[in-house]
Amino acid sequence: MKEQHRSTSEIPAQIIDQFGRRLTYLRVSLTDVCNLRCVYCMPEDMTFRPRRELMSDDEIITIVRLMADLGINKVRLTGGEPTVRPNVVEIVRQIAHIPGIHDIAMTTNAILLAQLAEPLARAGLRRVNISLDTLDPKKFRFITRWGSLDKVLAGIEAAEAAGLRPIKINAVVTRGFNDDEVVELAKLTLDRAWDIRFIELMPFGSEANFAQSAVVRSAETQEKIESVLGPMQPVPGHDPRDPARPFRLAGARGTIGFISSVSEPFCDSCNRLRLTADGKLRLCLLRDGEFDILTPLREGMKLTELKHAILDAAYYKPWGHQLPDGVIPQSRVMSQIGG
Ligand code: SAM
Ligand code: SF4
Repeated sequence: MKEQHRSTSEIPAQIIDQFGRRLTYLRVSLTDVCNLRCVYCMPEDMTFRPRRELMSDDEIITIVRLMADLGINKVRLTGGEPTVRPNVVEIVRQIAHIPGIHDIAMTTNAILLAQLAEPLARAGLRRVNISLDTLDPKKFRFITRWGSLDKVLAGIEAAEAAGLRPIKINAVVTRGFNDDEVVELAKLTLDRAWDIRFIELMPFGSEANFAQSAVVRSAETQEKIESVLGPMQPVPGHDPRDPARPFRLAGARGTIGFISSVSEPFCDSCNRLRLTADGKLRLCLLRDGEFDILTPLREGMKLTELKHAILDAAYYKPWGHQLPDGVIPQSRVMSQIGG
């Protein structure tokens, strides 16, 4: 298959890897900078990349357009914190106009959403995933090192008012920080039509030891929730490419999902590629292999050649992680990849 890519001048409008997985979803990190410092994500004294190493607005649009030509149809903007990127609204607007991109979503901590939800929605953003690990303001400040829970709640409200739906809430379950709060978080789905997803902590680079000692498996989280709130039922019609299979508590408006990257990886249905803020195509969240797109673009490589190079690189997307064998991604922490 790889030889076919090389021998035809016509570039196939799809990226298929060595395992036959069709890659149609690109997560784009707009910046490695964040306005918070979540304990499991980055150290308090994190240093960020110099601006010149990051993709410019035009470079982001060029690369996304190129990826759309190769069959990418869904884009998620992430970071760091994507809303701190200057011109984020304009970037969304331009991506929304790229032929072939049918869906633009964002993963955000929502601190700035009260101001930005409406303009982002008008620019073409369709959905947001909002990170919220606790409903206790003091704990929130502790986990994020200085964040304000009120701002996040105001951000969620603004997202709803702007019509960004469905609202998905991401809660990373961290032992000793918020594992005692999963029932309270799950209860939110009783009254609100939110999709709450409990995420297993993943180990990365300098933060790996902490993540390994504080990981809580999804099975434990589910048991804890069901022991208090009763059994939850699987929601029919689940898209197998969505890593969180949804469940519903009796009478609940929203759903509960579990993203069990550590204990039950979902690699067979993976359709994702990641573009880091410094312009590297990361083939798997939990493996270090990357392909540099930005350098050849800056050096003037023809876009047709670059597309061939991307097809070749993506062909070698690894099957999945090797955490059970002790292989931990070292080159970046989560905020430098985008989650
Ligand atoms: N700043 C945005 C936010 O927090 O939503 C977007 C970037 S953040 C890196 C994306 C997601 O990754 C968030 O939901 C965050 O909680 C999660 N995350 C960060 N570090 C993680 C880790 N070590 N394991 C699992 N999830 C992690
Ligand atoms: Fe920032 Fe998101 Fe990482 Fe928290 S999880 S430090 S909000 S990038």
